Amino acid sequence: MDLSAFEELKLELRETPRRWLVTGAAGFIGSNLLETLLRLGQPVLALDNLATGHRHNLDDVRSLVGEDAWARCEFIEGDIRDQEACRDVLSHGVDIVLHQAALGSVPRSIADPVSTHECNVSGFVNMLTAAKDAGIKRFVYASSSSVYGDDPNLPKVEERTGNPLSPYAASKAMNETYAAVFGRTYGIQTIGLRYFNVFGRRQDPEGAYAAVMPKWFASLIRDEEVFINGDGETSRDFCYIDNVVQANLLAGVAKMESDDSRAYNVACGERTTLNELFSLIRDRVAVELPEAATREVVYRDFRPGDVRHSLADTRAIVNDLGYAPSHSVGEGLAETSSWYVEKMKSTMQ
Ligand code: NAD
Repeated sequence: MDLSAFEELKLELRETPRRWLVTGAAGFIGSNLLETLLRLGQPVLALDNLATGHRHNLDDVRSLVGEDAWARCEFIEGDIRDQEACRDVLSHGVDIVLHQAALGSVPRSIADPVSTHECNVSGFVNMLTAAKDAGIKRFVYASSSSVYGDDPNLPKVEERTGNPLSPYAASKAMNETYAAVFGRTYGIQTIGLRYFNVFGRRQDPEGAYAAVMPKWFASLIRDEEVFINGDGETSRDFCYIDNVVQANLLAGVAKMESDDSRAYNVACGERTTLNELFSLIRDRVAVELPEAATREVVYRDFRPGDVRHSLADTRAIVNDLGYAPSHSVGEGLAETSSWYVEKMKSTMQ
């Protein structure tokens, strides 16, 4: 039987471990990268300033991977806005950078564009500069589907972006511009991953800027009101976390010409409206909490800066990196639902 590119990569990494730096490692996506890399026997440096990430995510990873694997993780509490901190972390000897640290959320960026710029653009340039100074060849970073902005075409293809519709989107577009410039100027190889609405375990349901999925899971489990911004016909290409982890690892070791810089869509290639998503989540939660089955949503105003529809063309990452999503939206939701129900029931007791 032919192994998938990801299965082959996992075997190779076990045999020939690399040293990885994961920034934003106490956050949702970063902690999942950390967990997978440690399970695969990799040594990992983990950087975070705990702005929106949590120590309990690191504790969770530690208890899941066990003490032997955890001994290969070095956590550094540091801020990417601090150039020295970026230099320091890269002086530990790193082969591959997976840069996730940033302030997420379109509404947060509209409320406070300066903080978004400082973390997402200045912090990004600090990391990229420290990486090229340390002679690091491969720099993989979190971009976003928000770079498609007002481009009305579906599905979204990498070559055709639109005008960014928020400071957050502008910051991610700037990341891609800087990455390409650093490739041409200094020869560092960069791969930007344009994530499309990622969901899964350890995504934070708390706070004003929480994403829709964890917020809905939490509200359904706690019997609180569930809101939809707009008429619910807004659609997204939701992508389960395991697919995103796979894309990062494939990008980390993919063969590239020196000074190449690319950006790829990372998604499932399935479009789900918010109304459909609510039904799917409610049905999943109701498997474990039957009282959720009859819950209804409350509609309120559209949010400024939100894109109406989003759907990715994933052919480029499939062809170039061998990306093959392991989870459809439904499969991802089943795993995510069990995780939230278990976590939240234990904290509510
Ligand atoms: P998250 O908030 O859970 O993780 C981000 C992490 O970065 C947090 O742990 C935070 O403490 C850390 N961080 C923020 N500013 C920092 C700084 N100045 N110095 C050091 N660490 C800092 O968010 P996430 O969903 O895991 O997002 C990870 C990356 O993926 C971000 O770059 C985000 O923009 C991008 N992204 C996420 C999605 C999604 O759907 N979750 C979609 C598109 C892009």
